[in-house]
This record gives sequence, structure tokens and C-alpha cells, in this order.
Amino acid sequence: MERQIDFSRERQMLCGICGLQWAVDLDWIDRWEQAKETCAGCGTTCEHEDAPRVTVDQGDPALDDAEVARFSWYHTSTQPDWPTQDFDPAAVLTPATRMMMGGDQRVAAWAARQRAKALHVGTFEAAVHNMLRRMRDQADHDSQFYLYRVRLKPSVVVREGWLIDPSNFVGDVVLDEVCPTGIDVARYLNYHEDPGGLSLALGREAIACVQQVPVPPPNTWDETWVRGAVTALDSSSGALVPATGQLNRFMRPSSPRAALGHELGAALAGRLPINLRDQFTSAAAFSEGEASAKWARRTSGLYAMIADPACVLTELDGKEYRDV
Ligand SMILES: [Zn+2]
Repeated sequence: MERQIDFSRERQMLCGICGLQWAVDLDWIDRWEQAKETCAGCGTTCEHEDAPRVTVDQGDPALDDAEVARFSWYHTSTQPDWPTQDFDPAAVLTPATRMMMGGDQRVAAWAARQRAKALHVGTFEAAVHNMLRRMRDQADHDSQFYLYRVRLKPSVVVREGWLIDPSNFVGDVVLDEVCPTGIDVARYLNYHEDPGGLSLALGREAIACVQQVPVPPPNTWDETWVRGAVTALDSSSGALVPATGQLNRFMRPSSPRAALGHELGAALAGRLPINLRDQFTSAAAFSEGEASAKWARRTSGLYAMIADPACVLTELDGKEYRDV
């Protein structure tokens, strides 16, 4: 069952000082983060230790234990077979790295800790937020990502209530710590990705099956926009021009084509919710020498994932479920 997907929905703020809870839009949160807004109850700004933060919306349907396993959940990953069976995190280590880590015994212990980590699934919005954040990091900018739709086993036992985001940017959460014996799934509040939304920490055993589409999902980009962008990019020079002027002396040389790509990406970003604009602009950055058509399809497809999620769901609907 799908929940409504809305990247721009209102969020709930809760003040840690006066206890006031109220609804805000994303533009308010953006101003708040720049200390341009205050708590209506006590006048606190974001700089205070116990300043208001986003909290769970009491109307969030995922608070209903019986509904959790009926909802579609989402995940984005660079792994083409997530959640990988018999995942061996040590498989990619070179002999030199193994030596540096202290030898085989240490590596085995490290690998065991990696395997003990919880998996994470969340709303469609959270999965897209997570992917854009990773694309912004240089290491994953050009990686192939996949979007997964996840079905949980109907029998999963959900931990009561919800936890505060157990790690910053869902990094190292040990499964046993959030899901003790007898519990399969723990809800937690997101602060950063789909702020205020509920995600789940869970083990592989809680997942029944997944569907997968590559990113950008086929048939989601706007062909008219892509054609226009390709024509414009191909008629501008790809030759590198050194940056000039005092302010630009530390900048790498770039081409007029890359500058145009940046402009086109930034124009699309300007139509997105304010908390996704910077990430989208970074994720859509044009790499020197990149093929114009590939860049344009990727950029338009990423935009569609936020602006037109229905077309992405249609692509997922056409995919077979893979049992986990
Ligand atoms: Zn307050």
C-alpha cells in the first residue's frame, strides 16, 4: 500500500524548552536554520542547545503498528542486489588494507560488526533525500544508484513507539541494539532525510521481497527538456577556460559547456522544495567531458523523482518482485 508522497508537506516542530508544538512549511525551516525565525512560545532561536526540532506528526500513518507491514517502504543503494545475501564486506579489501587493519583476525571481527548493522528503509521521500546526499559527496557522484521498493513480511513485530534518529545520517546502527530479541522492526524519527518522517531499522529477515529500478528510472525524464538541453550543451564549447580574477584563483578551470550544465541544473533545482535545491544542484553537476544526452536524461530523471513520483511508481509497478 502506498502512502501519499509529498516532498513539500508541512512538518511538526517541537520546542525542547517551552514544549510548544506547531506546524511549519519547509521555507520556515530554511529561515529557522539561518536564525531568522524563533519559537513562537519562548522566542528561542536555532542556536540554543534545546531549540525546537522537527518531530513526528501524530497523524503519521506509520505510527499504527498494524499498518507498518502493509506499507511500501523505500531504499536507495549503489548495490545492484540489495539487500545482498551473505554480504562479505571484507571481499573488497586488498591484501595491503587487510595488513593495515591488523591482519585476518581483526578483519574478521570488523566484517562481523559490519554484518551486524541494521538495514534502513524509509518513505519514498527519505530514499530520494538519502540518494541526493550521497550523490553530493564526490565519491558517489557518478555511481549507478538503484531505487528499491520493499515489502515487509506481514508477521513482523514492530517495536513500540519510535526512537530518535539513532545515528547521524543512518550510519552505524547495530541491529541488536535497536531491535532486541522478539522485535523485527524499529521506527525512528529522521532529522535530516525527509525531516520529521519515520524510517525503519530492521534486519534482512524482516524483508519479504523487493522491486528495483535503476536511477534515473526509464521513461521518467522529459524528452522535450532533454532534447533542448542536449542541443544547447552540444553547441557550447567543451574547452577548459582557466578561472580568472581574485576570487576565482583557487577554482579549477571549467568549460562553457559545464557552466551551462550548471545553469540548466540550477534552473530545475529552483522549482524544487527548498531543502533539496543545493543537493539537487550538486547531484546534477555536469562533469567535464560527460556525454550531454546521458547527463540530460539523468538530470531530468532525478528531477522527476521529486516532481512526479507517480511516474516512478509506474515503472516500479512493471517490475517483478524478487524474494529476499
Ligand atoms: Zn519554545
